[in-house]
Amino acid sequence: MSYSIAIDGPAGAGKSTIARRLAQRMGCIYVDTGAMYRAMALYTLRSGIAAEDAQAVCAKCREADIEIRYENGEQIVYLNGENVNGLIRTEAVGNRTSRVAVYPQVRRKMVELQQKIAKNSSVVMDGRDIGTCVLPDATVKIYLTASSAVRAKRRYEELMQKGESCDLASIEADIIQRDRQDMSRETSPLRQAEDAVLVDSSDQNIEEVTETIIALCRQKGCI
Ligand code: C5P
Repeated sequence: MSYSIAIDGPAGAGKSTIARRLAQRMGCIYVDTGAMYRAMALYTLRSGIAAEDAQAVCAKCREADIEIRYENGEQIVYLNGENVNGLIRTEAVGNRTSRVAVYPQVRRKMVELQQKIAKNSSVVMDGRDIGTCVLPDATVKIYLTASSAVRAKRRYEELMQKGESCDLASIEADIIQRDRQDMSRETSPLRQAEDAVLVDSSDQNIEEVTETIIALCRQKGCI
């Protein structure tokens, strides 16, 4: 049976870690939709245009060829033929992404690409509008969240481990700002789909959250 698992939620809730594990356990592909929006944001950053310049961003969007390939089980994002996986995880790109993701033209292009991937294979797909817009008929829909303090602390620890200097208060402020941007945009804002199951990971570790979702997938016959 072919199926799709949609995971939405705010920044730093653990969506990508959980989604990657689920895809491994279930033997399907993991589609990280944020990476596509990040590639688009990188393109506008490189072009030196302001994120608020709607016309320029939309013109760039028409030019951008964003492609997803799977190499050794890992999703690689190609921007006009260049592998940009190593360039899209910076704070500068992250902060710009939610400003570029507001444009309907940008969203339309990404959604088409995402729907095409899900049409051809079973997927675990994470993002902000998967259950509400990209895959409205997903087999399982999860809204994964955690308090902003917990999300900021996780991000802080991740950066510290990488040896990057950072400040907990400003990470939390960035997260709150990004959530506000994603929840208040006009086109497909971040919100819990009516038929999504709410999972709060504030007091649960990765294994516990994964098991909770696996149990839901079993109930729906994906496993
Ligand atoms: O998930 P990630 O943090 O990589 O996403 C970066 C940004 O991309 C989000 O803050 C959001 O603005 C945008 N995004 C989106 N819709 C998605 C996935 C990501 O608008 N499906």
